Amino acid sequence: MREWEKYIRKVTPYTPGEQPNKPNMVKLNTNECPYPPSPKVDEILKNFNTDLLRLYPSPDVGPLVKAIAAYHNVDEKQVFVGVGSDDVIGMAFLTFFNSDKPILFPDITYSFYDVWADLFRIPYKTIPVDDDFKINIADYNIPNGGIIFANPNAPTGIEMSLSAIEDVIKANQDSIVIVDEAYADFGTVTALDLLDKYDNLLVTRTFSKSRAMAGARIGFAIGSEELITAMQNVKFAYNSYTMNQPAILAGVEAINDDEYFKEIRDKMVATREHAKLRLAELGFEGTDSKTNFLFVTHVSAEAKDIFEFLKSKDIYVRYWNKPRINNHLRISIGTDEEMEKLYEALEEFLA
Ligand code: PMP
Repeated sequence: MREWEKYIRKVTPYTPGEQPNKPNMVKLNTNECPYPPSPKVDEILKNFNTDLLRLYPSPDVGPLVKAIAAYHNVDEKQVFVGVGSDDVIGMAFLTFFNSDKPILFPDITYSFYDVWADLFRIPYKTIPVDDDFKINIADYNIPNGGIIFANPNAPTGIEMSLSAIEDVIKANQDSIVIVDEAYADFGTVTALDLLDKYDNLLVTRTFSKSRAMAGARIGFAIGSEELITAMQNVKFAYNSYTMNQPAILAGVEAINDDEYFKEIRDKMVATREHAKLRLAELGFEGTDSKTNFLFVTHVSAEAKDIFEFLKSKDIYVRYWNKPRINNHLRISIGTDEEMEKLYEALEEFLA
């Protein structure tokens, strides 16, 4: 081994879902929105003044912070914007999780949490969800250096009640509690409603799912001014200009077009509820997902075989060969037409 090899930071990276690009594929594997972004986003990008690219973007992402703060009715000082919520959550780990005590998160959850913990050398402890994949909040009443959970959780889609979330925050006043709300727009509760009561709460969100802008890479966090200032300081100690000009302008248009947002979100929720029934008819069982994906297992067929068969038909869903979930599939909600293609292929496989 060469001397310098010892000093390379060795990490196991996060494995994102495949991004194939086939003309007639049905892509239901990364929880993207099947509809285009707001027409206002289209308009602003078509008319984008490229002279703006000569200049650095505003380092504080001012216009977008302003639009997000107005939309969520919070002070601008309570908003942090980053390159997707992955960037925002990564920054939050770096900023807040510096205790010697382990941070806590569920064993079945977004598989980036342990990757960031390893990258930043943060000790962590995973807390098993129960056999129905539900989070037991009492398990979080142990000494810890911070807590993160997704609500609704991924890949299970299960939503925790607001009172359960509050109980976790209340019982852990000495720690920062991050609630990852990547999918909250498809659900019914939000921890944003608790912000006035708790200054140890950080809520993260994304434009990637409900606002159809995964390719623009916009995420944000809302928390107390103190938490957001701490995150800004870490960001400015690392990379000041994270957000590019087109993304900032497009993001403002997206958040301001609430009518369009509600229209596509409602369509996805309706398709999801219909999909629950159709998949049940085909012999699938699953959680009561409150997201834009379903987490299902089949009564007799193996998840891996279904996954491979669908892939051979250019229908992409997500499968993990991981303990506890290796007989499940996560199926993102597509358009009604895409979902029909899925049901047809499943009928063929199961015949
Ligand atoms: N949190 C959860 C639970 C997710 O599923 C995702 C999407 N992979 C993210 C955060 C990150 O999304 P983005 O970086 O696109 O905002």
